[in-house]
Amino acid sequence: MAYDAIIIGAGHNGLAAAIHLARKGWRVAVFEKNSEAGGAVRTREVTLPGFRHDLFAANLNLFAGSPFFQAYREELTRHGLGFVPTEHCFATAFPDDRWFGIGKDLEATVSRLESFSRKDAETWRTLLADFGSDAPHIFGLLGNPMPSWAAAGVVYRAWHAKGLAWLLDTGKLLASSPRAWLDRTFESEHVKATLAAWGMHLDFSPDIAGGALFPYLEGLANQSFGMVIGQGGADTIVKAMTAYLTELGGEIYVENEVKQIRVAGGRARGVELADGRSVEASRAVIANLAPQILFGKLLPDGAAPKPVAERMRSYRNGPGTMMIHLAVDALPNWRAGEDLKRFAYVHLAPSMDAMARVYQDAVAGIIPAEPVVVVGQPTAIDPSRAPEGKHILWLQVRTLPGQPRGDAKGEITGADWDSIKDAVADRVIDIVERYAPGLRSQTLGRAVFSPTDLERENANLIGGDSVNGSHHLDQNFIFRPVPGWSRYRMPVKDLWLIGAATWPGAGVGAGSGFMAAKMLAGR
Ligand SMILES: Cc1cc2nc3c(=O)[nH]c(=O)nc-3n(C[C@H](O)[C@H](O)[C@H](O)COP(=O)(O)OP(=O)(O)OC[C@H]3O[C@@H](n4cnc5c(N)ncnc54)[C@H](O)[C@@H]3O)c2cc1C
Repeated sequence: MAYDAIIIGAGHNGLAAAIHLARKGWRVAVFEKNSEAGGAVRTREVTLPGFRHDLFAANLNLFAGSPFFQAYREELTRHGLGFVPTEHCFATAFPDDRWFGIGKDLEATVSRLESFSRKDAETWRTLLADFGSDAPHIFGLLGNPMPSWAAAGVVYRAWHAKGLAWLLDTGKLLASSPRAWLDRTFESEHVKATLAAWGMHLDFSPDIAGGALFPYLEGLANQSFGMVIGQGGADTIVKAMTAYLTELGGEIYVENEVKQIRVAGGRARGVELADGRSVEASRAVIANLAPQILFGKLLPDGAAPKPVAERMRSYRNGPGTMMIHLAVDALPNWRAGEDLKRFAYVHLAPSMDAMARVYQDAVAGIIPAEPVVVVGQPTAIDPSRAPEGKHILWLQVRTLPGQPRGDAKGEITGADWDSIKDAVADRVIDIVERYAPGLRSQTLGRAVFSPTDLERENANLIGGDSVNGSHHLDQNFIFRPVPGWSRYRMPVKDLWLIGAATWPGAGVGAGSGFMAAKMLAGR
């Protein structure tokens, strides 16, 4: 077997790269270790028959807004890709039985804001008015290789259009911690906590520099565009991508783990599979992998310069995540208000201080007393995912230690996630019960994925790190995954690295796969 390009891993970035290259006439093959494509985008009946759970990613906003989707919208739609939009994006329920949330209806958001602070309501209108002209520059930066003349052009055009003061303010936003930006922008602690929760989706607790961008972008983008999830499941994008790739003549082999990359004459020439077969690639081997896997396991010793290989092997992961999937009789009875039943996400993250404590515990190996919980309510938006009248809940638990060494409450003992995951899940359900009494009695089925299970499901999620490597400033932008190697091309000729560990980072935006493929194909 010989191909122009071999892609290792059928994550959505690997599939995006394969599609673009196949479209440009390359012969491509994707080799995937798991029994199905998708990586961290998978949908499965893990609780009861008829209840379809997004095991990992659920929110497809990044994909819907991506340059890749803009380029292939017609083809992917023809292959069945469907989004379900919601106006009611995210909210936080608070222990004082109040709630705040952001939805696409501006007047509704503003009226909720006014109940906390009139000044914050005015600030929101101003931020939103500016966002319309700020967003193209910020998204332009995220949509180009880093560094690149194109990215420099974005900065130049922003300077020209908005002036130096705007550029400096935006630089300050990019460098700020969530708390620094929120404290200088809003006065209500409820509002600040609601936005700060977005930092916790990555690994930005409120006091980590570089984390302000995510609460800012998520807040204003959800306000402006709403949120979308997949019709029938997030795997709608995977099904459409695999079908389109096949139509283009691309090949996908699941249950085909790559064991080694073949390097000869200083260039990557193909791969060896777990079953001993060898496959050749004449133009590129593209790894949709964590750098530690590529440089620690798949590349033969000495193939890459030692200093680069060492840096790649010591690429740093963020803390772990647990996913709890519930099949339920009804949506939670939120004490803070019935309206919360309509929201895609309800965060249980009561204050910036609480989030900071949780994060600090997790990085110190301690199971937090009260982890942050993101309660996803997909069937509030897309009822097709459960039998009529029933629902599913997607509980993402942020943040937990990849390797536990203790418990903040001193109740859970054990360092092995397999033996403690149910006790931790019970703690999480107790938290949700406080905000939505009766959840336990409404539960029909439950499936728990500990940080260790996440890594079993997808080798890239090392220690259950859902974002495939910390996004702190020293590992983001031109430093992702390591300084000097942020443009996908690796220090072995014809070897490329894409995926969440490369710029622009985690999320279902298909950014690195599409950008690397365009570099390879010349456009
Ligand atoms: C719990 C969770 C929730 C998330 N929620 C969201 C969300 O709501 N919205 C969002 O935008 N993002 C979310 N994310 C992040 C997002 O899903 C990921 O960043 C993204 O899907 C990563 O895609 P990828 O292309 O980098 O590859 P991956 O998804 O990591 O896929 C890589 C593939 O490579 C395969 N592989 C690994 N080793 C080998 C090998 N040796 N041989 C062959 N194949 C191999 C793996 O099996 C896997 O299929 C979430 C992630 C997690 C874990």
